[in-house]
Amino acid sequence: MLIPPIRRRGQSASIGTVPDIIPWIRSYFAAEHAALVAVLTLAPDAKARLLAARKHYGPGCGPHDFSYPDEPDPDRARKSIERRLFAVRHFDGFDQAIASDLYQPAPVLSMFAGFFVARRKIVARANACMSCDASGRHAGRPCRDCAGAGWVMVGAERLDLTAPTGVTKVEPPTAPESRATWDAW
Ligand SMILES: [Zn+2]
Repeated sequence: MLIPPIRRRGQSASIGTVPDIIPWIRSYFAAEHAALVAVLTLAPDAKARLLAARKHYGPGCGPHDFSYPDEPDPDRARKSIERRLFAVRHFDGFDQAIASDLYQPAPVLSMFAGFFVARRKIVARANACMSCDASGRHAGRPCRDCAGAGWVMVGAERLDLTAPTGVTKVEPPTAPESRATWDAW
């Protein structure tokens, strides 16, 4: 999958401004969750929902080909929850919205996915590095698995995550390791 490069043209390149991005990314999480429920219940419009969400929110949403169950699974659909938004980190030209896993059961929620938003689209995503719990450090040194970034890009170019210009904290993750990373921001 080709992800267009994120151009750095200062403010104009990014929607960048809180509170705008928080409701925007949450609306994506709602659409994504609705699509997941449609898939789990084998709703006839499941595929169309997935494609529509991807078209509207951008090519970097991530793996949208949820696995379809052999039989409708309303119980799992009922238990699934929308991603929780923990924070938005701001960079020059883009933002990173950091959230839980779509499949992760409450109440212990860890940082899982980071969605990169620029030009009012999700242009790429990353997963939290499992080795360092997104902190970028492991045993007091820069983490080798993510080169200190804390995040591993999924199917996209590697973005420079070393110099955030700020962070907007939304709510803390409840998993202790993720909470420690969140507290340190
Ligand atoms: Zn790491």
